Amino acid sequence: GEDPLLWAVGRLLQHADGRRRLGVHANADTGDDADRARRLGATGVGLCRTEHMFLGERRPLVERLILATTDEERQSALDALLLLQRADFIEILTAMDGLPVTIRLLDPPLHEFLPPLTDLAVRVARAEERGEDPGADAAMLAAVQRMHEANPMLGLRGVRLGLVVAGLFAMQVRAIAEAAAQVRADGGDPHPEIMVPLIGSVQELEVVRAEIEQVLSTVDGGSEARIGTMIEVPRAALTAGEIAPIADFFSFGTNDLTQMGWGFSRDDVESAFFSRYLELGIFGVSPFESIDATGIGRLIRIAVDEGRAANPQLTIGVCGEHGGDPDSVHFFHAVGLDYVSCSPYRVPVARLEAGRAAVGGGGSDSR
Ligand code: PEP
Ligand code: MG
Repeated sequence: GEDPLLWAVGRLLQHADGRRRLGVHANADTGDDADRARRLGATGVGLCRTEHMFLGERRPLVERLILATTDEERQSALDALLLLQRADFIEILTAMDGLPVTIRLLDPPLHEFLPPLTDLAVRVARAEERGEDPGADAAMLAAVQRMHEANPMLGLRGVRLGLVVAGLFAMQVRAIAEAAAQVRADGGDPHPEIMVPLIGSVQELEVVRAEIEQVLSTVDGGSEARIGTMIEVPRAALTAGEIAPIADFFSFGTNDLTQMGWGFSRDDVESAFFSRYLELGIFGVSPFESIDATGIGRLIRIAVDEGRAANPQLTIGVCGEHGGDPDSVHFFHAVGLDYVSCSPYRVPVARLEAGRAAVGGGGSDSR
């Protein structure tokens, strides 16, 4: 028969599911991740990051798109990427049949897609030493130097990249709509949602939303996607009342909200000074792990309250790492979110804690 321990855990989670008000979604980028998340009880994908889909063997295509000097070059890169993206989205929408899948438009900093400056510089220097023409390498070196940023995480990423690289977001939106149409034609029930990263002002979302709607309207049978935004730049939280009327949903990106709110680099703090801060008791646990009602949590409360006041239909979730942290789940319940989204293996814990929060048990005092 069944393992008694697993049986008991299953009963416990069922009990929590019966009580909790928070939905529990998962962050998943592939069909396999989504399958795993579903088996662990996730009732949606709260964040599908599309960036890994542009790395590896597809990287040359992305380079070609970003560094294109002619419309033909740009268009041929976009056409190739469209086919690949459509297949990616069919996979994840099929795995989550009947459940929402929030697909985030491309986010990472530009430099991740560009060939490394030093490699190019070395190639050009070698060619010149040998008295050869560095040709395309020299042109690429100049282009990459032009785009070089001192602080890429505060630079050309997220919505900014989408507004600068013509056709990029439109290609992704078309891929989502065509994938949904295909899944539906095959008898499935896809629920894609389109999420814009790194919004800091309502004007950015206005421009991108208009572009998204325009593309959706041109795809037969694929035009029902809800459109929403990450709230991860502090200014977005502080202007949530302006943004909410043109968003179907908000999803808090607590990783970036913490980075920008505290002014701590996500990529550097752990080794640089966190252990000293923990030792001194400046905080008891890394702010990148856990969130409460103070500080960054206040930004969240402001955005929830002002967002809901401006748009009562707004769905609000969180998809940063904190979405699967037990204490933070209690805070997200208290502040009135609709769902948390976390990595698949943390889904059971999030379900349990959401249930405990609803019956008033456990967690740090979060309100
Ligand atoms: C976030 O910033 O919290 C987030 C979910 O996005 P990413 O981690 O991909 O920046
Ligand atoms: Mg982010």
